[in-house]
Amino acid sequence: MPWPFFAKFPDRNIKPTPVKATTPSVPPAPKPIVLPTPKPVVVQAPPPLVIPPLVTVVSDPHNIQLSAHFSYLELVTTEHREYIEINANDGMKYIENMRRLCNEVLEPIIALLGEEPRISSCFRSPALNTVIGGSKTSQHMEAGAADQLFKMPLKTAFNKIMASKIPYSQLIYEFGRWIHIGIIDKKMHPGKVGQNLVASMVNGKAVYSLVTKAI
Ligand SMILES: [Zn+2]
Repeated sequence: MPWPFFAKFPDRNIKPTPVKATTPSVPPAPKPIVLPTPKPVVVQAPPPLVIPPLVTVVSDPHNIQLSAHFSYLELVTTEHREYIEINANDGMKYIENMRRLCNEVLEPIIALLGEEPRISSCFRSPALNTVIGGSKTSQHMEAGAADQLFKMPLKTAFNKIMASKIPYSQLIYEFGRWIHIGIIDKKMHPGKVGQNLVASMVNGKAVYSLVTKAI
């Protein structure tokens, strides 16, 4: 065995090379997360709220208010009570004429005279018109005319309406009992514009005379 056989053993006096302490590695700071700028969300404006026009109760045709002072019921009522229901049903076809009659003629008459007329007859269904012997071309059958009763002297009301600017087809002083007035309807009644008439009974027949000045 060669000497020193233990030479290959490490010398106990040899100090082990100190292990160089390494700086503990610091993990790199994480890159800040850059969030993409969010695209502005475009919220579409909701469509404007469309409020439907005031709907009156159509299930009850009697309930419709046509203007400040007049209702559908007032314009389809007749003293011939058995015809009220048929009038109320048939009259719906002519409700636009009723609105015109109320707003263009009857309301201005209230403003003019300071008195609300009572409507004795406006719409007449064909059946009612036949029964009472109305004219076949009567505007009443299209709800385009009204017969009005006043508390004031009838001639005063007639003369004031005639002198006003209220547009009408015919203004008729009828038998000293009521005043008939109709809306202008150039399509259905082209010949009736601004006519003033006085109706009287002559030998049992109604006679209509044109008037051009106060009666
Ligand atoms: Zn009439």
